[in-house]
Formats: sequence, C-alpha cells, structure tokens
Amino acid sequence: MDDVLRGVFPFLGRSDAMPLTLADIFAARRRIRGLADATPFIPSPFMSERVGHEFLMKMEVMQPIGAFKLRGALSAIMALPEDVRGVTCCSTGNHGRAVAYAAHRRGLNAVICMSALVPKAKVDGIRAFGADVRIVGQTQDEAMTESKRLCEVEGLVEVSPFDDPHVISGQGTIGLEMLEARPDLETLLVPLSGGGLAAGVAVAAKAIKPAISVIGISMDRGAAMAQSIRAGHPVEVPEFASLADSLGGGIGLHNRLSFPLCRDLLDDTVLVTEEEIRHAMQVMFFEDRIAAEGASVVGQAAVLAGKLPKVRGPVGTIVTGRNLDMATFTKIMIGEDVHIGDLLVKGQSYGA
Ligand SMILES: *Cc1c(COP(=O)(O)O)cnc(C)c1O
Repeated sequence: MDDVLRGVFPFLGRSDAMPLTLADIFAARRRIRGLADATPFIPSPFMSERVGHEFLMKMEVMQPIGAFKLRGALSAIMALPEDVRGVTCCSTGNHGRAVAYAAHRRGLNAVICMSALVPKAKVDGIRAFGADVRIVGQTQDEAMTESKRLCEVEGLVEVSPFDDPHVISGQGTIGLEMLEARPDLETLLVPLSGGGLAAGVAVAAKAIKPAISVIGISMDRGAAMAQSIRAGHPVEVPEFASLADSLGGGIGLHNRLSFPLCRDLLDDTVLVTEEEIRHAMQVMFFEDRIAAEGASVVGQAAVLAGKLPKVRGPVGTIVTGRNLDMATFTKIMIGEDVHIGDLLVKGQSYGA
C-alpha cells in the first residue's frame, strides 16, 4: 500500500508502524466463532446518569471462563499448526484459565506452571478446565523458567497473555462487536495491564471510527503500561497487592507489540485508587446487580471519581472478569475493611 493511501486509511495495510490491522481482527473472529461468546452490551442507567451520556457495559464476565482472556487464548491456540505438541503458560489468573479451556476445546495438552504459593482454589479452578498443573518452586520466576524449559525440551508452545499478534487480535474482537452494536460510541474506557486488550480494542475501534477516544485505565500502584508510555519505553514497576489483582504485573522489558500499539493508539491513561475501585465494585453490585472483579470496574471508578470530566458519549466500557475471591467480595459489599497482602482498603457501607 502506498504512503498516500496509508495516510487516509492508516489501519488498512500492515506496516512497521501498524503491525496489526482490522483484517487480522476479522480473521481472529473467524477462529474463535462458536468457542467464545459474543457477549451482551448493556446500558447502566445509574452510570449513564452520573456521566451525563449513555454508558454501556460489554459483559465479558459472561464468557465460559468468566473473563475476556478466552478470546485471545483461543485466537492464538486455534492458529497453531496441525502438528503442535501442546501449549504452556505460567499464569495463575484469567490467562491460565483461558489457555486451559482453549487448549481443551482444541483437544490439545496444556501445562500451566505455577509456584507452590498459589492458593489451592486457583489451582483447582485451572485443573477443572482439563489442564495439567505443574507446581514448581516458590516464585513466579521459577514457574516461568519451567514453562520455558517445556518449550525447549518438550516442544510445547508458550501462549503469551498480551504480547502476541493473535492474542491481541482476539481481544480486538471485543472492539469490533462494540462498534458494530453501537457505531455512535465516542469513548471507550478499557482496563489496562499488559495492554493486549487495549491494543486490540483500539486497533478495531479506530479502524472503524478514527475519531473515537480510547482511554486505558489502571490502578495507581504498579501501573506498568501507563508508566512505560510516560517514559517512552517499557519500564519495570514494583508489584503491589490490589483489589484489581488482574491488572498487576509488568509489560516485559522486551515488549514487541502491546507497548507500541498502546503508546500510539491510546488517547490517554487514567489511574484510580483502591478506594475508588472498592466504591465502583459496590456500584456495580448495588446499582447494576453484577458481581465483578476490581480490574473490570476501573472505567466506572474513573468516572465516579470525577477523573474523566470532559468525556464524550456514548461511553462504552468492558466488564472484563468476575473471577474474584468471594470472601473479599462479601466484605467489600457489607462495608468491612479488607486486607490483601500488605494492602488495607478501608470499608464503607454503600450509600453511607
Ligand atoms: C488480563 C485482564 C485485564 C487486562 O488485560 P491486558 O490485556 O493485560 O491489558 C483486565 N481485566 C481482567 C479481568 C483481566 O484478567
């Protein structure tokens, strides 16, 4: 494609500057069709009133594993060659569940590596999807080393949680569905960690509607992508306990794709506090009657905290997951203090 055309249609041709295109996202949609669900996109009357525009929520909590990560994992695993020997990863969270489920659906062996410190409930959850859980060492690093060894010695393929073109295009199918349902959307609020979701959604949304705003939202402690964008290159950040635990972790110092895509396509990044996340979880439950992880309500948290005063509407956000610790969730709902690691989040009854 020549440069003149690229200036007019920047998302149509693949290039160094735009390694992923809308065509890749349509291809991902064909691979995951019938395996991941096209989820409902529903209005929140309460949030709409608060933001002063229609506010819509993409209900990825309704995916079979309870989170959107299934789309990316399926997109990557369904694209593997016929003779693949199996897949591996070392995520204990939604990505681990997604890889386990997706591999099972393709009839492939999945080995999920984790450290001995991972809570039994999480281990059992992943095992229940038919994966082989391998407990190695006491740290996430040791689990990662084992996953790498399985690739070298046993020929398994590692599925990245965010820095992979098929994973990103799988997550991008969410953006496609939102814009197809509501071409009038003006702003998308996207929970942001490694940036696979935000990158994919931004590629899709901006290809369809270049003027749309895509804003990435993270928690204020350990926001690796937001800090990397500010620094101009991937940086390491310390990890903290958070109500948005699914947003923790780094973006990789050798990040190839999700960093440049987020840097180039996100209009802004916004950070929210633990108290703001707690309040948004209560709003989701008491107003919208939905139980959602802290990570999946950061868009609502930013709006409710007044951090997006000039947002244009209609606004769409993605309720990304519902894999939460129910004891913690119950405490938050009844207004008790919660302790997660070294973190204390002060309780407050809803409406008080
Ligand atoms: C992984 C995850 C995110 C963030 O996705 P990235 O692609 O890493 O930015 C948000 N919410 C939930 C529930 C997740 O599991």
